[in-house]
Amino acid sequence: MEHYRETSGRKRRVLIVDDERINCEILGNILYERYEVLYASDGQEAYDILESTHPGISLVLLDLRMPRMDGFGLINKIRSNNRLRSIPVIVMTSEADAEVKSINLGAADFITKPYDMPEVILARCERIIELSEDKTIISSAEKDQLTGLYSRDFFYEYIKQIETYNRDIRMDAVVFNIDHFHLTNEMYGRKTGDNVLKGLAGVLMNIFEDVAGIGCRAEADMFYVYCQHQFSYDNIMERIQNNLPELSEKAKIRVRMGVYPNVDKDIEVESWFDRAKLACDRIRGDYTKTMSTYSSELYERSVYHEELINEIDEAIQNKDLVVFYQPKFGIQGDKPVLRSAEALIRWKHPKRGMISPGDFIPLFEGNGLIQKLDNYVWEEAAHQIRKWREKYGRAIPVSVNVSRIDIYDPALENKLLRLTETYDITAGELMLEITESAYADNADTLVRVVDNLRNHGFKIEMDDFGSGYSSLNMLTTITIDVIKIDMKFIRNMLKDEKSLRMVKLIIDIAKFLDVPIVAEGVEDEAQLKVLKKMGCDIIQGFYFSKPVPADEFEKFIEEEI
Ligand code: C2E
Ligand code: MG
Ligand code: MG
Repeated sequence: MEHYRETSGRKRRVLIVDDERINCEILGNILYERYEVLYASDGQEAYDILESTHPGISLVLLDLRMPRMDGFGLINKIRSNNRLRSIPVIVMTSEADAEVKSINLGAADFITKPYDMPEVILARCERIIELSEDKTIISSAEKDQLTGLYSRDFFYEYIKQIETYNRDIRMDAVVFNIDHFHLTNEMYGRKTGDNVLKGLAGVLMNIFEDVAGIGCRAEADMFYVYCQHQFSYDNIMERIQNNLPELSEKAKIRVRMGVYPNVDKDIEVESWFDRAKLACDRIRGDYTKTMSTYSSELYERSVYHEELINEIDEAIQNKDLVVFYQPKFGIQGDKPVLRSAEALIRWKHPKRGMISPGDFIPLFEGNGLIQKLDNYVWEEAAHQIRKWREKYGRAIPVSVNVSRIDIYDPALENKLLRLTETYDITAGELMLEITESAYADNADTLVRVVDNLRNHGFKIEMDDFGSGYSSLNMLTTITIDVIKIDMKFIRNMLKDEKSLRMVKLIIDIAKFLDVPIVAEGVEDEAQLKVLKKMGCDIIQGFYFSKPVPADEFEKFIEEEI
């Protein structure tokens, strides 16, 4: 800061306001080397100069007794002007009582006439400018420019200060987040977005004022509030909801709230808000809830997830992540025929035992680690295809799951091609299961990627078909090789007429398009019989086998031979 002041190129501007020319000259002589000096001979002229000078004046040296508008008048006018109010004023006076009056009015300092030694005057001017600049910087860092709320760092500091004297009072940490705020920005423009943020900040402060709350804007669309412990937040949430429609004429705003009640004062302030945020994140995307409270289970779950995230590399290295294979059988002949397998990941955790993919796949999908895991599974599967061909002299195609995020990986094609080369297998032997809902994210990309992969000979299976919103739409734009009916229709098929008709419909569509159809999740013979009669080609499910380790899978190959 000091350094910045010394070296900055432009001289700061100082305005001398005095109706006596001689005074102006004396002061001007003292200051002109260091500052760009401007002069005014009364308050009105000074005010006009202040208003019209950009960049602004750093300091005003003010005589009190002048014609037209005197010194007091000018100070008053400066103080009531938002843009000018922070300019420091040094009053020059020879009257003892005026000193008190001017300091009370907000003057930063005073210099007595006749003038002191020049060095003293210069030093005082410098010090006042420095002080005032530091003050502006500090106050701009403590406040968020857009909303006027505290910045996060300042907010934390402030709480720590409050806590020094109020440790015994029960307090809550509350976090607010706007759903899909980036969409508001994109669809209605940043200005609307900014207005929504400003509006929400105002609403929150207004409501939380009643419970001694202080607030900050922690990130783009995330607000933190620290307030006295509330028995219930229903009322507060209702008041917030009632105010939301007024935030924007165009955009519909939805706000989520996470509460960490009665904060534990033995842990760090930052952690209080991490906990409230955890609660807030948990209901992201759940349109039935707008409010969630932190609990210890939630905490344990997040610690568990954190551990899994930290352990993934080691798990891959130690082969604790194992690929299992579930057979798919063709059922249209007299007797089921082994057609292929699906590779499904399992985590044999040294301490926790077997962890199901349902526990870690969604977690890794959320943070991108899924790619690492998928690449590992693809490589294992490709290697296995090769091993079986060498052992049995025939290829068992294996399908692997491809996550949405893989679709956007520009290296996807090369990664897969490299595997076929390395293990000397054909593209058709490594089949790719893509979940139907990937189509909804970005149809154009999916169409392009699928076309490309098919051109290389890869076979695409559309997983979970019928579960998304765009099943039919998708079939008209993408050519796929296999349709896998979503398991939930199979599960309900014999209990519920609608599911049964849905299965029939999907099979008919597949027939119409001349695409083979797989039913997965088939658990009993009754299901199998109905599916066979409807013309379903391939079946995967516990009826034949659960997913099993590669060596166990070999019994299906051996039976086949
Ligand atoms: P999915 O790809 O739809 O896989 C089928 C799931 O159904 C597997 O669950 C399988 O064990 C299960 N299943 C098969 N037959 C039956 C049955 O008859 N009854 C019942 N109740 N379930 C059956 P799993 O292995 O737990 O995997 C769940 C999901 O996790 C998979 O659904 C897939 O989306 C994902 N997943 C598994 N492995 C991977 C992987 O390596 N990469 C990616 N990206 N996702 C994977
Ligand atoms: Mg699958
Ligand atoms: Mg599936």
